Amino acid sequence: MPDTGVRSLGTAVRGVLEEFEGGLLGHERLPPEHHLDRLYWQPDCPTVYCDRCGRSHPDAFRRCRACIDQRLPHHGVVRLAAYQEPMASWIRDFKFRRWESMGRLLGGRLGEACRRHLVDHQRAVDCVVPVPSPWLRGRLRGQDHCLIIAQEVSRVLERPVRSPLRQLGGLPQAHRSRSARLRRPNPFRSSYFGRSIRGRDVLLVDDVLTTGSTIRAASRVLLDLGVGRILVGVLGVSNPPRSPLRASQG
Ligand SMILES: [Zn+2]
Repeated sequence: MPDTGVRSLGTAVRGVLEEFEGGLLGHERLPPEHHLDRLYWQPDCPTVYCDRCGRSHPDAFRRCRACIDQRLPHHGVVRLAAYQEPMASWIRDFKFRRWESMGRLLGGRLGEACRRHLVDHQRAVDCVVPVPSPWLRGRLRGQDHCLIIAQEVSRVLERPVRSPLRQLGGLPQAHRSRSARLRRPNPFRSSYFGRSIRGRDVLLVDDVLTTGSTIRAASRVLLDLGVGRILVGVLGVSNPPRSPLRASQG
């Protein structure tokens, strides 16, 4: 066999073994910092996205057309990145391949971004609130990914995690069409700890902001519980819908 043939066969075998090893061990072989450092990855500068809805906004006016005249229950959004590569793969592997160390690293980075935002706006939050998963889905997945993110944000901000919300069961958002997400009845309710956050300013934490319907629904229940200001922190914000004005209503 020619030398190059031996090398390509060796490369193929090594690739199969690495995939097998990856399936067994997940991404724990390499620390998540390696993946961020390898790409010189940095979180988005606040001037590249709308500070109200989180959508990418190249004009750097801090407020996009979708937000003009729109009443949103939250006061601002802090994001790490647009929901595109490499962030999209990191979040998916964190959620669906239990890459917890990456989730914790990104959660810490989100905490640092939120801290910079709060310092810039001379504000503070009293507690960190994760968007809850339905109880059954959390058991099936074996981890509550928003709680993991919230714990890391809480560690950086030195503010406690509170869980005043619970979510009723249903299909995961990723399985729903955009229109179905916007029509969905509010799946959030107050939890047993709901009354404990009355009058508090909260940082509401989610992994991905797509239509914004989840954040709006959770924020409405928080407002019903009497919270003060709501700041939203997310790892990724997806591209705007085709009709952003309609999508931001409701
Ligand atoms: Zn906006």
